[in-house]
Amino acid sequence: MPALFIGHGSPMNAVLDNSFTRAMAALGKSLPRPEAILCVSAHWLTEGVLRLNGSAEFETIYDFGGFPDELYRIKYAPPPAAREAARTAALLEPAPVLEGRGLDHGAWTVLRMLYPEADVPVYQLSVDYPAEGGSHYELGRRLAPLRKEGILIIGSGNIVHNLGLMDPDIEAPPLAWARQFDLKVKEYIDTGRRADLADYAALPGGLRAVPAPDHYWPFLTALGAGLGDKASYPYEGYQHASLSMRAVLFG
Ligand code: ZN
Repeated sequence: MPALFIGHGSPMNAVLDNSFTRAMAALGKSLPRPEAILCVSAHWLTEGVLRLNGSAEFETIYDFGGFPDELYRIKYAPPPAAREAARTAALLEPAPVLEGRGLDHGAWTVLRMLYPEADVPVYQLSVDYPAEGGSHYELGRRLAPLRKEGILIIGSGNIVHNLGLMDPDIEAPPLAWARQFDLKVKEYIDTGRRADLADYAALPGGLRAVPAPDHYWPFLTALGAGLGDKASYPYEGYQHASLSMRAVLFG
């Protein structure tokens, strides 16, 4: 299986029809059918420990506020992937703690576009928020063997994610520094400098593009899981001027 990173942006994408949502629907149709999906989402942060959810039926978590009612009526309930979660726990040291948590919107808004039938088993691995960039990249490399077992690894966050400098208009053009950082990341991916991306602050515009790394860490994990595989970009674009919606497919 390939490894995938998706910039998820606003929860509103779950109910919008735009170039990003259409690209995700097309991507879902083009991917090989996985045995299961492991999603690492910016919206499950833990501290000093990793957690896996694969042991319960999934509730749909509405971890956002102030959005239209229709968003809160969406249910996405794929089968849990208990066997794959146990297999994943065995790959990591120390083993993550299994818990019965539902799917957050970083996972379900994206998965629903890719697999609208909700028929592929899903599980999530949390993000150890205080850990350094290099450890999120290394985590991806440790997860990479799962790809040979038919597991699609998806990181869900945003390469550029600055909510403080957002334009209320979803179609507002990108700010110059946002575009510059996003394109620099692409350049590093394509020119074999992937490990250097762990230190985002060293890149031009890094501290404005990543004022807090919650949405960047899942990118590093997907990047690591992609190993040295050739990258392609199922979607490149921006929303709200300060979010990069770039998706990266490895392999
Ligand atoms: Zn988010």
